[in-house]
Amino acid sequence: MLTITDEQVVYSLSPNNAPVAEAEPGETVIFYTKDCFSNQIQTEADLFEAVGWATINPATGPLAIKGARPGDTLVVYIEDIEIADQGCMVTVPGMGAAGDLIEKSETKIVPIKNGKAVFNEKISIPIRPMIGVIGTAPANDDIPCGTPGKHGGNMDTKLIGKGTTLYLPVWVEGALLAMGDLHAVMGDGEVSVTGVEIPGKVTVKVDLIKNKSEEWPVLETEESFYVIASAEDLDEASDFALKGMIQFLCKRTDMNMHEIVSLLSAVGNMEICQVVDPLKTVRMGISKNIMQNYNLKF
Ligand code: CA
Ligand code: CA
Repeated sequence: MLTITDEQVVYSLSPNNAPVAEAEPGETVIFYTKDCFSNQIQTEADLFEAVGWATINPATGPLAIKGARPGDTLVVYIEDIEIADQGCMVTVPGMGAAGDLIEKSETKIVPIKNGKAVFNEKISIPIRPMIGVIGTAPANDDIPCGTPGKHGGNMDTKLIGKGTTLYLPVWVEGALLAMGDLHAVMGDGEVSVTGVEIPGKVTVKVDLIKNKSEEWPVLETEESFYVIASAEDLDEASDFALKGMIQFLCKRTDMNMHEIVSLLSAVGNMEICQVVDPLKTVRMGISKNIMQNYNLKF
């Protein structure tokens, strides 16, 4: 099976990155990933300041997908996510949504035991492994892995986990898929700027939908479709996610705008993914069950 090691990393998603491997559509590929600190935080004595920005948010790859062209959609079916037996979290003065309350830099090591993240003596959290950074190369720009956008990137969306399918717009030949920044578990918002950061192994099946794409990444879970959009602030990100979902439904149903907007108001869910990255991320979701008579597909 095609395997990409965690030594093959990029720090930005860019059309200029040379692919480290090439997959056929339909092929299964394993990505080994370092954590967002390049595995440099191993004990509570290792502080964020020692890591250095140059090694933050490595993404493993990029993988070229044979035949991918701009205007296509890259389908990434996440078959499995395995995580290491220890994760970490940091709080840093001025960083994250509550950085004004943090007086000094601190690290928390979070052991993973029996499917739980051992937060402290009294709190163990069932793990829900997810991928923080996953994307294709943008058309022209060199976008740091820490920034989300229409190419995906640092979307920090807790639903991007095992059994879900991510549909990413292809902007360059080969698509150039890369991923990293796994979290053992993360809450909506990622308020401290870290989930339970952890290295791991992601198994995905990649495929192509030719000559068809949406403007923003789309996620399909067992229950729902989501459009995931990012912008300078949550207001704008919400607007992009909503308009993206309206477009998605316009193309796939015979409902008019009045009906689609009303339906999204009745049963659509606008949810916050994260509020701590250079752009903020919001997802707009619609239940597949509600739409069953339309047999909604990407
Ligand atoms: Ca992240
Ligand atoms: Ca992270």
